[in-house]
Amino acid sequence: MTDLSKLDLLGWFRESRPSRLQELYQWANAVRSEHVGDAVHLRGLIEISSHCVRQCMYCGLRQGNRALPRYRMTYEEIIECARQAERLGYGTVVMQAGEDDLLTAGWIAEVVRSIKRETALAVTLSLGERRQHELRLWRSAGADRYLLRFETSDKNLFHVIHPRRYSTGPDRLTILRLLKRLGYEAGGGVMVGIPGQSFDSLAEDLLTFRALDLDMIGIGPYIAHAATPLGSGALRPAIAPSEQVPNSEEMVYKMIALTRILSPTANIPSTTALATINKVDGRKLGLKAGANVVMPNLTPVKYRRLYEIYPAKACIEESAIDCNQCLRGQIHSLGRFAGQGPGGRGAIETPLSVLPDVSSQFVQLQY
Ligand code: SAM
Ligand code: SF4
Repeated sequence: MTDLSKLDLLGWFRESRPSRLQELYQWANAVRSEHVGDAVHLRGLIEISSHCVRQCMYCGLRQGNRALPRYRMTYEEIIECARQAERLGYGTVVMQAGEDDLLTAGWIAEVVRSIKRETALAVTLSLGERRQHELRLWRSAGADRYLLRFETSDKNLFHVIHPRRYSTGPDRLTILRLLKRLGYEAGGGVMVGIPGQSFDSLAEDLLTFRALDLDMIGIGPYIAHAATPLGSGALRPAIAPSEQVPNSEEMVYKMIALTRILSPTANIPSTTALATINKVDGRKLGLKAGANVVMPNLTPVKYRRLYEIYPAKACIEESAIDCNQCLRGQIHSLGRFAGQGPGGRGAIETPLSVLPDVSSQFVQLQY
């Protein structure tokens, strides 16, 4: 395991020479190739509900955003998206939502059971801070993975931007440890450039990823949403300007690269938020800096615009088929290939091109 000290990490954050940054990205890319191979795994994203009881100061889905019309997908709609994921050759579906109490534990368990019964897909859930008995039930129903970003390891900042729902209860780091004990592949992650986020805390984020031994690590830029207290400027966490992490593309690439070097076997997505701040090249540059996962959107187009976490989100008009073709094109243009199976942590796939007969059949099936 490569050891980068906190001082090294802080040095990389302040580095601006293009030649040194290229060295960092190439280093991360080599670590990625060695530890997880050249496959890029496609995780089909289904945004199943935009209802949320929480008041996160950064997120457009917060309950206080009364202007946003809400939706909740039906059981049939979700199952149809999962069938489409399988038709498109994906190995995983990710069911994501706000913290929506009407997505009851039993109902979600039934949806998971149906997907596992009907398809060979891995199922990832990202439904917020749910209770232990719910997480346990979904795991026993067949859910494989759970995503819960801890957003920042700065506890004070986290509590300011993510008010508690109950006066007591586990924090996100505790839930991530619980998820691992329950046998899930656990995914954490952070936003980069949150107002009030210091370089020091960003270095701690990287060390926390490694300490938790996370299976998946999602990193994206913080994007201001005017209908939120943080995005409108109504909430301004105090910080010296020289300590404030910028929410720039470059900062995100550095974080992806350093994450790959410190957590070499983790699955790391090149995120939609990154594709939002650079719609042309963001995803590809993330993949070149150490990422090995993309998340094509499967949410029915009529709902996409309503899952407005932040404005001008990438890929809200394209159909699932368009997203699939666009992402596969980007993957191939990098000389990489789309993974075929569930793509759990530690799985290294062989490119289909070394299996000529199968390869031609798959190409026909996918498009
Ligand atoms: N409700 C679940 C949760 O909070 O974990 C899942 C859905 S939530 C919308 C998924 C992720 O969106 C959050 O973990 C956060 O990192 C990201 N997000 C929310 N608001 C954002 C913003 N303004 N800019 C960038 N990412 C944002
Ligand atoms: Fe709800 Fe998640 Fe958005 Fe917070 S980040 S408001 S929990 S959807």
